[in-house]
Amino acid sequence: MSIDQETQITLAVKHLKSGHCVAIPTETVYGLAGRIDSDEALKAIFQHKMRPSFDPLIVHISNLGQIPALVKDWPLSADSLARRFWPGALTLVVKKSDAVSPIISSGLDTVGLRLPSHPVARALIERTGVPLAAPSANRFGRTSPTTADHVRVEFPEAIKSGAIQVLDGGPCHLGVESTVCRVTEDEVSILRPGGVTEEEIRAHFKSSDVPALQNVRVTRDVGHHSSPGHTEHHYETQKPLLVVWHLGVLPSPWKTLGDSIEIEGQHFVRTKFREITLSENPTLAARELYSKLREADLDPTSDALVIQRVIDSEAPEDGLWAAIDDRLKRAARRTVGIELLASPKWPSRSR
Ligand code: AMP
Ligand code: MG
Repeated sequence: MSIDQETQITLAVKHLKSGHCVAIPTETVYGLAGRIDSDEALKAIFQHKMRPSFDPLIVHISNLGQIPALVKDWPLSADSLARRFWPGALTLVVKKSDAVSPIISSGLDTVGLRLPSHPVARALIERTGVPLAAPSANRFGRTSPTTADHVRVEFPEAIKSGAIQVLDGGPCHLGVESTVCRVTEDEVSILRPGGVTEEEIRAHFKSSDVPALQNVRVTRDVGHHSSPGHTEHHYETQKPLLVVWHLGVLPSPWKTLGDSIEIEGQHFVRTKFREITLSENPTLAARELYSKLREADLDPTSDALVIQRVIDSEAPEDGLWAAIDDRLKRAARRTVGIELLASPKWPSRSR
């Protein structure tokens, strides 16, 4: 860590102590953090973001010793996932203790916990001595931030007035949010796909030498009902985004779309679209997704954005693509070919 970062962390600890918020770098996206024991800071997070109170915050910890005070139950399955995937992009939702404010849990009886791997985030939590509640550092429903500059664009006034301090830890390495799982003794249910893949979670239990863990069921429950903030429209750009999924190969662009494209009742001519191309490698595609969306949004020569995504017929939503496609689906104001994402492996899951 640089001397400048050390200095920023020292300032951030003080800032948090006085009930303010700090924008923090993590390996997933930047978060807007407040101490979990400060109602003032927790309320400020919701106000800055204009986040509805029904959307719970993830609690970020820096060591496993902080867990017992935060939870009522800590199932063996949760413990084994934490030891395998933390520090990292996995949020474990378990029954909360009374020490977790209802502001954090949005009145639910559960709390989402994560131990991030970014050294600046971990050092800050460790030196604060109290876990930090932190949602993504963007206004509610908008594109997530993956650089400190993205955060500065989101909250210019609050940063100027000193209400929010921005800790710059460079661009986020992963670029999409954590995988959120509700965990009980015998079931792990994926509420939001993210940085840790479903395949990794399955493989982890399958290879366990503890019989009770081998039998843990891994399911998907990706919907607003179970994961309240994960709304159908989320991660939205300011200009309308069209996402087109193609199977196998990319046909000549626009072939299926024509020259004048309707998005939510508005017509856009083809020349006014800004095309965004994602890398074929999912690690790179995830890392660049939000930056590319934000950059294209600012392009004064275009009125709308389009992403054409070629998917593999065998496993359309495997690996990190599950998280990327989830974000594209929610960010888009119009989708074409979305039915191609329905994986034959998961015929009955809700979407
Ligand atoms: P964000 O940090 O903005 O990416 O949002 C965190 C998301 O995690 C929320 O929108 C919820 O979807 C999910 N989450 C956090 N805590 C819980 C919880 N206790 N139960 C279910 N989902 C949760
Ligand atoms: Mg968010």
